[in-house]
Amino acid sequence: MGIKTVFEDCDILVVGGGMGGTGAAYEARYWGRDLKIVVAEKANIDRSGAVAQGLYAINCYMGTQWDENNPEDHVRYARNDLMGLVREDLAFDMARHVDSAVHKFEEWGLPFMRDPKTGRYQREGKWQIMIHGESYKPIVADAARKSADKIYNRIMVTHLLMDETKPNRVGGAVGFNVRTGDYHVFRAKAVIVSAGGASHIFKPRSVGEGMGRTWYAPWSSGSAYALAIQAGAKMTQMENRIVLARFKDGYGPVGAYFLHLKTYTQNAYGNEYESTWYDDTKAMVGEYIDHHPVPTCLRNHAMISEMKAGRGPIHMVTKEAFQDPHLEEVGWENFLGMTVSQAVVWASQDIDPKYINPELTTSEPYVMGSHATCSGAWCSGPEDLSPDEYQWGYNRMMTVDGLFGAGDAIGGTAHAFSSGSFTEGRLAAKAAVKYVKDLRNEAIQISDKQIEGFKKTVYQPLENYQVGRNEIVSGTVSPSYLLPIQGLQRLEKCMDEYVGGISVNYMTNDKLLERGIHLLDIMEEDFEHLGAEDLHQLQRAWELKHRLLASQSVAQHTLYREETRWPGYYYRGDHMKLDDDNWHCLTLSRRDPESGEWAMEKAPVYHIVD
Ligand SMILES: Cc1cc2nc3c(=O)[nH]c(=O)nc-3n(C[C@H](O)[C@H](O)[C@H](O)COP(=O)(O)OP(=O)(O)OC[C@H]3O[C@@H](n4cnc5c(N)ncnc54)[C@H](O)[C@@H]3O)c2cc1C
Repeated sequence: MGIKTVFEDCDILVVGGGMGGTGAAYEARYWGRDLKIVVAEKANIDRSGAVAQGLYAINCYMGTQWDENNPEDHVRYARNDLMGLVREDLAFDMARHVDSAVHKFEEWGLPFMRDPKTGRYQREGKWQIMIHGESYKPIVADAARKSADKIYNRIMVTHLLMDETKPNRVGGAVGFNVRTGDYHVFRAKAVIVSAGGASHIFKPRSVGEGMGRTWYAPWSSGSAYALAIQAGAKMTQMENRIVLARFKDGYGPVGAYFLHLKTYTQNAYGNEYESTWYDDTKAMVGEYIDHHPVPTCLRNHAMISEMKAGRGPIHMVTKEAFQDPHLEEVGWENFLGMTVSQAVVWASQDIDPKYINPELTTSEPYVMGSHATCSGAWCSGPEDLSPDEYQWGYNRMMTVDGLFGAGDAIGGTAHAFSSGSFTEGRLAAKAAVKYVKDLRNEAIQISDKQIEGFKKTVYQPLENYQVGRNEIVSGTVSPSYLLPIQGLQRLEKCMDEYVGGISVNYMTNDKLLERGIHLLDIMEEDFEHLGAEDLHQLQRAWELKHRLLASQSVAQHTLYREETRWPGYYYRGDHMKLDDDNWHCLTLSRRDPESGEWAMEKAPVYHIVD
């Protein structure tokens, strides 16, 4: 194959330059002045990741300097929202450091809104502070650029390399440049994976002409999970997908409407509906329904149940608030921050929220570890906080030596958001530097065989296309290869119908899951025959393969947890109740990299905060 190979040897490789990755690059330089730090990013770090377009709020800030909240409060909040199950050691660790990360953002030039009376950061909610956030990502990218020895943009990382001198130790990563097609080999002593969460693993509500519109970023392709899974790292809480109540068709955010505009929801007949479902929910989850704030999944449950009862659609009552010109302005501006398309959708559908109450609906499920759910890799915690069995040497190190993670990549740390992900990157990098220094002169070894083996695998979809392209039977239908878009739609359909997506009202059971897992296994075989006509499609092919691995993990975890812990996120029809006696625990999985077999186990939840 006439493809150029570019080698880069470094101490620390950061995969994905989003919020976690930029935090990691910055902190790695602070502790590792003499180390070589490299970032590999599939887009361009200035505008990459879920925060690319900008945000109007930093969702995780304690405000400890003003006695607003303490880290313990945040752990209680996240635990409550996740129906009792978070990694409290990791959550506390992030919360105790997040304020200092936010102060850095301000120091680097991010404009913050301040309360004119108190001079403090303007609060949007108990945990959120308001920013003029268009420049958020370029600002953190700048910090990373000044810290790293080298930033490689446009590199889609496909696999991690494994050291051949010691089992279960990472040795770098490989990928390809999505513009030049060059094969990139990064040999590294430590790798920090911060490649974001997963959208488009379940069929989205927006299909056909609306395809591409999703709530979580469409380019979040589950690489953070797939890279770890391929390397044999243990995963946790992958069943804990998230479903969001959002404005219909544009996925526009609703939180600011509730908070600033004091809008409220009602069913199609103008009635409040959440109280209708109180008894039903209590029968399913017990006293969790009485918690304050009511866990997000349970509020979803009321909305979904009301729609199923035939009293949808659900509306956000905007007509009252929008009569006030100031609130009207706030309502529209709310979308400028990150979801301009919601305003465009309303315009296209003749919806002026001053006169028409817009519809809300629940999204398709997404998988992520930094927003409001806990999916991700199982990692070691901080030594001063974590119980012994949650501590194996280095903070945020996965169960593979030298492999660290941050942000969506790491499981158990819900409600970290942008600032918490950046903070986790910093924590991971500090530990990674220590790890590299502890290795001293111990060298990692990667054989040419390993490198060449991956090279063949990485470019196989181009080869498949080259060989099979003249066999087209009709349009884009080929007897010998599948296009990435065809594979994606097949994956989304399977996850939707068998693993609890929108078309089945988030319902699944053991039989459906077993069938779904079988179909996913078939897909794994078939995706060996993906065909990519160019480099762009080669990237799509690898994103799809990563999404498939993440999906398999989600399906395995969903099958393993025999209860309905988060009604409103998904339902196990064969176990319709929350079962604290048997399932007040975290779920762990490991896929054997050789055999592809999945092994599941339970891990205790330690409540270190009362
Ligand atoms: C719609 C939406 C609204 C949000 N609103 C807020 C908010 O108001 N406030 C807030 O604080 N937080 C908000 N968040 C959350 C915040 O954006 C995330 O928590 C945070 O970005 C997660 O950081 P991360 O580093 O894990 O992932 P990301 O920031 O998404 O970064 C992942 C990076 O990895 C790269 N990458 C992916 N795959 C590969 C690969 N194979 N090879 C190389 N690079 C790869 C991506 O291009 C990207 O740059 C929101 C998120 C979304 C989607």
